[in-house]
Amino acid sequence: MHYQDVLDEVAAHVAPHIGRGQVAQYIPALAAVDPDQFGIALADVDGNVTGVGDWERPFSVQSISKAFGLALVLAQDWEKLWRRVGREPSGNPFNSLVQLERENGIPRNPFINAGALVVTDRLHSLTGDASTTMLDFLRAESGNPELGFDPVVAESESGHGDRNAALAHFMASYGNLDNPVPTVLEHYFWQCSIEMSCRDLALAGGFLARHGLRADGSRLLSRREAKRVNAVMLTCGTYDAAGDFAYRVGLPGKSGVGGGIIAVIPGRCTLCVWSPGLDARGNSVAGVAALDHFTTVTEWSVF
Ligand code: GLU
Repeated sequence: MHYQDVLDEVAAHVAPHIGRGQVAQYIPALAAVDPDQFGIALADVDGNVTGVGDWERPFSVQSISKAFGLALVLAQDWEKLWRRVGREPSGNPFNSLVQLERENGIPRNPFINAGALVVTDRLHSLTGDASTTMLDFLRAESGNPELGFDPVVAESESGHGDRNAALAHFMASYGNLDNPVPTVLEHYFWQCSIEMSCRDLALAGGFLARHGLRADGSRLLSRREAKRVNAVMLTCGTYDAAGDFAYRVGLPGKSGVGGGIIAVIPGRCTLCVWSPGLDARGNSVAGVAALDHFTTVTEWSVF
C-alpha cells in the first residue's frame, strides 16, 4: 500500500469537514487558533513517516499527553496504579466530578482528568519530575529535540484551572494523591501544554504499534502491557464518545482539545490527525472523519 496516496485521498475526502465544529474555548490561547487547518501523519513500525496538509505544524497536545503518561507509569509500576484508578469508560464529560464521590475518590479511568491527575502524581513520585520526564520521552521517540512546553498555554491552564484543582483536592481528601495538589496540577498543566506536530506524535506513539518497543528497539512495555494500554485507549480515549469512535473508526485512539487525535494500528502503524474544530464531546470533527475514512479505505480497523 502506498501510504502517501491513501493520505492524499483521505485529505481530499475530509476537505468539506475542515473548519467545522468549534475550537476549544476554555483558555484564550486555544480559542485564538485558526480552525481552518488540517494535517495527518502516518508512522509505520519501522519509523518511516509521511503526511499531508499541516502535518508538520505544532499544536497543543492537551489530553493526548495522557496516553504517554499512562504508558510511562505502567512501564515502572503495573499493579499499583490500577489500585488507584479504574479502567472503565466513564460516559461522563472528561472533567466531571460526580462519579468521584460515588467511587471513593478512585477515578473511572486514566484518561478523564481525575484519572490523569493520579497518573501524573504517580509519574512524579517515580521520577521526581513528571512533566520533564514526559517531554524527554517525547523528544526521544519523535527524534525531535526541539519539542517544548508552551508557557502561555501552561499559564493559561493554571489561571483557568479551578475544575482540575477541585478534582485534585477531592481525590487528595480520599488519600489518592501522594504529592501536594499544587505540584500535581503544575505538572499536569505543563504536560498538556507540550507542542507537537502530527509527525512528532505519530512517531512518538510508535511504541504502541510496535507492541511496546521504543524507537531505539529497547522495550518500554511488554506485549501484554502494550495491548492493555491500547485497550484503554479504545474504550476510554475519546472522552464520552469512545463508543462512537469505536463504531466509526475502530482503533485505539486518544484525542485532545487542541484538535489532535492519535490512533494505533497494532503491528502496522501509528496515525496522528489534527484539525482544531471540535464536536460537542471535544473530538476533532475533521480528525474523526479522516480516521473513519482511513479505516474504511484500508480496511485496517481492528474489527
Ligand atoms: N488541559 C485540559 C484540561 O485539563 C485538557 C483537556 C483535554 O484535552 O481534554 O482541562
